[in-house]
Amino acid sequence: MNPEANAILITADRLWDGTGGATLVRPTVRVVGERIDAVECGLLPPSSCSGDRIDFPGCTILPGLIDTHVHLVMSAQATNEAIIDQVLRESDEQLLARSLANAQAALRTGITTLRDCGGKGTIVRQVRDRIRRGEVAGPDVLSCGSPITTTRGHCWWLGLIADTHDQVRQAAERMLREDADFLKVMATGGNMTASSDPMRAQYDPEALKSIADIGRQSGKHSAAHVLSRVALPGVVAANYRTIEHCDWRVEEFRYEFQPDLARRMIDQDQIVGLTMSGLARRAFLPEIKHINIGPVQRLDMRFACERLMLDLGVRYTIHSDAGVRLCPIDRFDLGLQAAQVELKLTPNEILRAVTATAAEAIGLPDRGTLTTGKRADLIVVDGDPLKDLACMGKVRAVMKAGQWQVK
Ligand SMILES: [Zn+2]
Repeated sequence: MNPEANAILITADRLWDGTGGATLVRPTVRVVGERIDAVECGLLPPSSCSGDRIDFPGCTILPGLIDTHVHLVMSAQATNEAIIDQVLRESDEQLLARSLANAQAALRTGITTLRDCGGKGTIVRQVRDRIRRGEVAGPDVLSCGSPITTTRGHCWWLGLIADTHDQVRQAAERMLREDADFLKVMATGGNMTASSDPMRAQYDPEALKSIADIGRQSGKHSAAHVLSRVALPGVVAANYRTIEHCDWRVEEFRYEFQPDLARRMIDQDQIVGLTMSGLARRAFLPEIKHINIGPVQRLDMRFACERLMLDLGVRYTIHSDAGVRLCPIDRFDLGLQAAQVELKLTPNEILRAVTATAAEAIGLPDRGTLTTGKRADLIVVDGDPLKDLACMGKVRAVMKAGQWQVK
């Protein structure tokens, strides 16, 4: 086959390639098959390519976004009770339809890969596989199946309960047998589940280590949900690939950063997932300021501690936790803008967190940057998001593996 014949040339005003370097002016991206063949500055003469050409005046080309923590089965309603009730009440068919719709909504906003951190039964895996087989459009999905949790613990209503060491091992092995892409454990309680306690560890260090070890033996990474510092030493000792939320809270209204622990995370190249979900978007959702609950009251303390962690050099992704309250999957752009306001990160740092770093965090080295040989996952947004992150809400086109998904 003549490779020229199926080449696609994409041009725009500028391109940001995910490696952290400067923005290219008047770039041309050449896609052959599902890969990026070349990224060049300046326009190629028309005679150099007989393939499709498409120009996006006024726009910026970026790598496809990667949201490393979402919940496809959840509905992002205003209260936790409503979301839990929805998950428990809906039939598998309804949950499957909801999850598929969520995945497709994410794709339209530029998310070409997402990692689902907790579903019910085999729902998320079914979505993943239908997309993978090409039966339906959607982003690439990584699934943990369900998160491992304790009786009445955080997200017990997703159905994967394990209390003893034996049960923990069995739960991890079962998820791998059911073709999970990674393992997820609820290392502490969570805000969402009233019967759990975010200030308490749900598992001892031995249980935490057995999950991460079982994952590693099968070549899978593991993620730990941590909403207070009590569980962090065990999660660091077990070397979980990603630490979700990574909250340094030690008392109801006290946070305490521990540099020694953070240095060990850096030495092991662990990556934290900073959560910019609904409640963290207070700067853009004024109604949140009036919600008088702990997680909102504590935001200043939380962000101050996260800033200390970032200043020390801990690597991070930024995720949405989409599906939780007031956090619809199609507003990742608000989460990115909230990270700029609350954590004083630059657009360049924020975009790296949701492209190159995210790909590395979840073990997908074939994507995350727009460089020769990578999979052609790219988006086109109106304007210049390096100057104004609000442009991330104006997605004009989405390509996944060399195929236009939105154009
Ligand atoms: Zn979550």
